[in-house]
Amino acid sequence: MAVETKKLTVPITKPSLTEEEARAPFESIRSGWVTQGPKVAEFERAVAAYTGAKHGIATTSCTTGLHLALASTGIGPGDEVICPSFTFIASANAILYTGATVVFCEVDPRTFNIDPEDAERRITKKTKAIMPVDQIGLACDIDAINDIGKRHGIDVVEDAAPAIGESYKGRKVGSNAHSTVFSFHPRKVITTGEGGMITTDDDALADRARKLRAHGMSVSDLDRHKADRVIIEEYRELGFNYRMTDIQASIGLVQLRRLDELLRLRRERADRYNRELPEITGIEIPYVPDYAEHTYQSYCLRLSKDCRLDREDLMTNLLRRGIATRRGVMASHLERTYTDRNGTVSLPVTEEATRTTMLIPLYATMTAEEQSHVIDSLREELQ
Ligand SMILES: *Cc1c(COP(=O)(O)O)cnc(C)c1O
Repeated sequence: MAVETKKLTVPITKPSLTEEEARAPFESIRSGWVTQGPKVAEFERAVAAYTGAKHGIATTSCTTGLHLALASTGIGPGDEVICPSFTFIASANAILYTGATVVFCEVDPRTFNIDPEDAERRITKKTKAIMPVDQIGLACDIDAINDIGKRHGIDVVEDAAPAIGESYKGRKVGSNAHSTVFSFHPRKVITTGEGGMITTDDDALADRARKLRAHGMSVSDLDRHKADRVIIEEYRELGFNYRMTDIQASIGLVQLRRLDELLRLRRERADRYNRELPEITGIEIPYVPDYAEHTYQSYCLRLSKDCRLDREDLMTNLLRRGIATRRGVMASHLERTYTDRNGTVSLPVTEEATRTTMLIPLYATMTAEEQSHVIDSLREELQ
């Protein structure tokens, strides 16, 4: 038995892709329309309909989507944007791309999502936006952030990279902020290889974002292709190339149809962890407030003070047993990119959270045997 379990290796994550995703790009490839075209438009409409937003604007990634959303509202040098440090560094980097200054704020010690009071304290005359994050798939308290935005006249751009399918107070993430941005990286809930999507109800923002993602071109390729007269396009401002391709969008359409089922499978596995892990001394399961559901893009444990092993030793021992883990979410303000620019910033809740958290394997196709191996190994290591 011991020998058998040793051979079982459990990755941190695995995308769920079927024959249907493999065949999906066939039509685009055969038609010759491989870049952004009708499939992207269809995928945008499907994500907008799913989330309840008016518009979807597909991009090459969540990072470029966040940059595009900020740039489309005119944020640039001299402006400040507040975001939590406890997030993947891409959130802050997207702010930096605009030339604006990143102002890091704290997270709530239970949810590990943005602390609205701390964010509000950091508002200055230069603050143009707040970027809350739905970290590892748990919806942030967006009503509190929208309220701050309204009172101070500042924009809210929600980084929902891991949170497609998540709900906040029964409302789908994607329809709750001025703009929301999702990721379709393979590490997230559904994937297009690389890819991202902005959702918004704001017609003007959607129009500007569509232009800026395609070099600032006044007419899209698809519209020119469909036109029965010659159209000479114009370039009135500096744009980017952040176009998703039809090859990616055709995969995304299949993944989106499977999203609710994939979420059900993730939550089923998370529920098993939630039931069985609390019996083990030294680890705490994730806290989910009543207003959220959690996509469990990642399953994050917190090591408590009575944990027998320190985190690196636990991760090493699990790796020897064939189980991949990752440190919990990073503290962006401690990375050179930001210490060079912002100097030393002290965020005690964030620093404690980044030291004491770790991610364990969870994915839709995880077998009961794989999950038992993770749970048994944690129990054996920690008792
Ligand atoms: C993954 C992730 C990103 C980056 O997404 P990409 O699509 O890889 O650019 C940004 N923010 C958060 C919170 C993420 O988890």
